[in-house]
Amino acid sequence: MNSSTASSSSTTNTTSATDAATLRERRILSSKLYFEVPPSKVPVIYSTSYNIAFLGIEKLHPFDSSKWGRICCFLVSEGYLEKDCIVEPLEASKDDLLVVHSESYLASLKSSLNVSIIVEVPPVALLPNCLVQQKVLFPFRKQVGGTILAAKLAKERGWAINVGGGFHHCSGEKGGGFCAYADISLCIHYAFVRLHISRVMIIDLDAHQGNGHEMDFSHDGRVYILDMYNPEIYPLDFEARRYIDQKVEVVSGTTTSSYLRKLDEALEVAGQAFDPELVVYNAGTDILDGDSLGRLKISPSGVTNRDEKVFSFARERKIPLVMLTSGGYMKSSARVIADSIANLSKKGLIDMKNCSGNM
Ligand SMILES: [Zn+2]
Repeated sequence: MNSSTASSSSTTNTTSATDAATLRERRILSSKLYFEVPPSKVPVIYSTSYNIAFLGIEKLHPFDSSKWGRICCFLVSEGYLEKDCIVEPLEASKDDLLVVHSESYLASLKSSLNVSIIVEVPPVALLPNCLVQQKVLFPFRKQVGGTILAAKLAKERGWAINVGGGFHHCSGEKGGGFCAYADISLCIHYAFVRLHISRVMIIDLDAHQGNGHEMDFSHDGRVYILDMYNPEIYPLDFEARRYIDQKVEVVSGTTTSSYLRKLDEALEVAGQAFDPELVVYNAGTDILDGDSLGRLKISPSGVTNRDEKVFSFARERKIPLVMLTSGGYMKSSARVIADSIANLSKKGLIDMKNCSGNM
């Protein structure tokens, strides 16, 4: 990379770091993911291609892999959202993904075995990779495109919901826990460059620790991470825990009232510690009572309360807010998420009716 024979290794490192930063910026600036969204749309992002369902494979994972579509169906059929007002994102291209991921990581997804380990569905290992790309990774890349676009819409409209995304276990170098692409890290890097934002707060309220974005922003003072998670379950990533700015551990069996009290305190502390220009809210519903992975005991109305608290936090401070649905794949999750989004609308925290835009 550097033809100067006299340069010391530290100079070489600095030069290659600058080259990498320039390349990243060039990729972000030439991306098609940030397209103009007409005022006739509301900042709710979704595509039918988000859903993973083929050959019955989806039944092998303890997941409702069509929850994203069901959330929108509930909202549309109950009159909260017009189908034509939903924003369809583009698929993140290889160049888009290279903003955060290495070539070698993306190449590793060409092995069906590797993908099967990341998505935790062993039979995926037996499928030809072209089928894995089309049926598993393409839906994920659409969701990544949605998360990235959500930040642009949030800056314009005050808020945006990607009815998908929130793959918080994936970092630039490593996937896992059903997360193949680091959509949160990507979204934030795009916001740095395209939205001229330099302070981002991640509020990660999925039951699991968000080790992916924690590793990616481990030494980046522009990102403040509030992570409320069950410390007794996956991913038990003790290195990544060191990079959480505000760690709130909620042990197995935590009930709704105690959970919400801890959240109130955490938001209070976060609001005093950091003044963000964008909030990325990872709103996993695996905190629900009965979720065998999350092991917490939060009621459906507790989830509604939680989401309302985070939206109030950002909206009162006029901070653009991106919400991602993340983990939580019980059959009941879609219903709970739709009810919570409907509540945000009823409380005036979001406006999904105004199809003519509210800029
Ligand atoms: Zn989770």
